[in-house]
Amino acid sequence: MKIDILTLFPESFAPFRESIISRAQKAGTIEINFINIRDFSNDKHKKCDDAPFGGGAGMLMSVQPVYDAVKSVLTEKSKVIFPTPAGKIYNSEKARELASEQHLIFICGHYEGIDERLIQLFNAEELTIGDYVLTGGEIPTMVIVDSLLRFVPGVLKQESLSEESFTNGLLEYPQYTRPQVFNGLAVPNVLLSGNHAEIYKWREQASKQKTIRNRPDLLKGDENDEN
Ligand code: SAM
Repeated sequence: MKIDILTLFPESFAPFRESIISRAQKAGTIEINFINIRDFSNDKHKKCDDAPFGGGAGMLMSVQPVYDAVKSVLTEKSKVIFPTPAGKIYNSEKARELASEQHLIFICGHYEGIDERLIQLFNAEELTIGDYVLTGGEIPTMVIVDSLLRFVPGVLKQESLSEESFTNGLLEYPQYTRPQVFNGLAVPNVLLSGNHAEIYKWREQASKQKTIRNRPDLLKGDENDEN
């Protein structure tokens, strides 16, 4: 998979030079390029913002540099993503869906965002990572790219994905490591038993309890199925 990230701040993607994502790039499983939108500005001062029609607080990203930056990498196989608080909710299901694309282009917004016509012209999918507003699109892009890459074959061992939170519509069960007793709290006995069937049953139950406690909204579909 190839990912082109269009941003005014390419240097903010330092986390992608570490760990799993860095290894996947070195192994050639994925290719990630950073394109500086400012390099495409025709303005003599490389300006990349402009006032919104109709007035209001703040500036918008200028149309021309964003348009030309997208055009520089766009092919008929590209899917363009614009992370925005005004988008549809991004989740694990969407991550899996995007992981099957061949080429993703991310536009990192700044200021008040981008001109609506860019979204139309590139048929960009608008996605939000949650109901809050961040100062720029770099962090949301990192969140989306990091999470979708986990589903790209070869990036992670498949076993690592099978019991993760959201895989079966539930949160992951509680996990423990050494020591067996820590600050007076003991690891549940069943996990020390070596009985895999019992461990499986305990984890299934604990997973449901955690979901009820922390994310009852995930179980709403199940209730409806029973009705
Ligand atoms: N005026 C925009 C609004 O009210 O919807 C907010 C603009 S925000 C200050 C600047 C940029 O940060 C956005 O264009 C977007 O790229 C990014 N951004 C901020 N919050 C986000 C979120 N929750 N999800 C995805 N992207 C976000």
